[in-house]
Amino acid sequence: MGANGEQATRTLSNGAEIPVLGLGVWQVRDGRECERAVAAALETGYRLIDTAQAYRNEASVGRAIRSSGIPREEIFLTTKFYPGSRDPFAEAQRSLERLGTDYLDLYLIHWPQRGPTWAWPGMERASEAGLARAIGVSNFSAAELRELSKVSQIPAAVNQIQFSPFEYRRSLVEACEDAGVVAQAYSPLGTGRHLDDPVVGRIASATGRTPAQVLIRWAIQKGLSVIPKSTHRERIEENFAVFDFDLDEDAVAALDALDTTNQTADALARRQKWWS
Ligand code: NDP
Repeated sequence: MGANGEQATRTLSNGAEIPVLGLGVWQVRDGRECERAVAAALETGYRLIDTAQAYRNEASVGRAIRSSGIPREEIFLTTKFYPGSRDPFAEAQRSLERLGTDYLDLYLIHWPQRGPTWAWPGMERASEAGLARAIGVSNFSAAELRELSKVSQIPAAVNQIQFSPFEYRRSLVEACEDAGVVAQAYSPLGTGRHLDDPVVGRIASATGRTPAQVLIRWAIQKGLSVIPKSTHRERIEENFAVFDFDLDEDAVAALDALDTTNQTADALARRQKWWS
């Protein structure tokens, strides 16, 4: 529970709890940089780490988790199937070897390359064999989620999407909620781009918080799990200090108004679909 009495986790369709705040490690260099960031996050209190096969830093994530001394079952570990590969099951086994652990808490299809359904049977096999406790998707639109739900035996637990006040995607989040899929916000700071926005800055000054905290808090108040990335310990700590304040209605409305997606149900703008 946070200081506001809110849940610091969300419940997934498999019954597991996913922390509402985690560390993302995209563009974090394999080796010392990645190990240090993950170690700093775990020391700060983070219990969710988000990596991917495509990030090429799973081995460092695994080393940092093992050397933290925190029991594996207290940490929620996500990796993602790179859909340029063919076999989600075999790639999960390889991820587990690199991570040095025997299960994933969450295994996501990184994006719907070559369609939203072909990889799912392999994801389900990974789940049934115990390689992954929960399986889900990323960068799936509402329409792609619907297609998947028609063929899935095990429902997708999570859709990890680009989400911030500037990429609000309100209809997509509602579609996730309606389908029992937990939405998770990636790039909550716009990969750093949104931190200098004047509206965000004004709200940060008025609430005595930083722009990063305002953006992360907004996404949490929208009901999402959020995974900001940083390689700096002081920022990792700052990004975690978001459970002792609320954005009021006016602040939330001002942030909502920054949306450039027209409340879309799409996961990415057409020009952003790098795989198609
Ligand atoms: P974020 O939106 O989290 O922003 C990260 C950037 O902001 C970095 O440049 C970081 O710098 C900087 N930053 C972080 N905290 C602060 C702070 N408190 N003050 C000032 N600057 C700050 O970026 P990402 O795009 O990396 O998204 C987060 C995570 O989401 C990824 O790491 C990845 O795990 C996931 N993701 C998933 C995708 C998918 O397709 N499923 C796509 C993109 C991201 P520095 O590190 O130097 O501190």
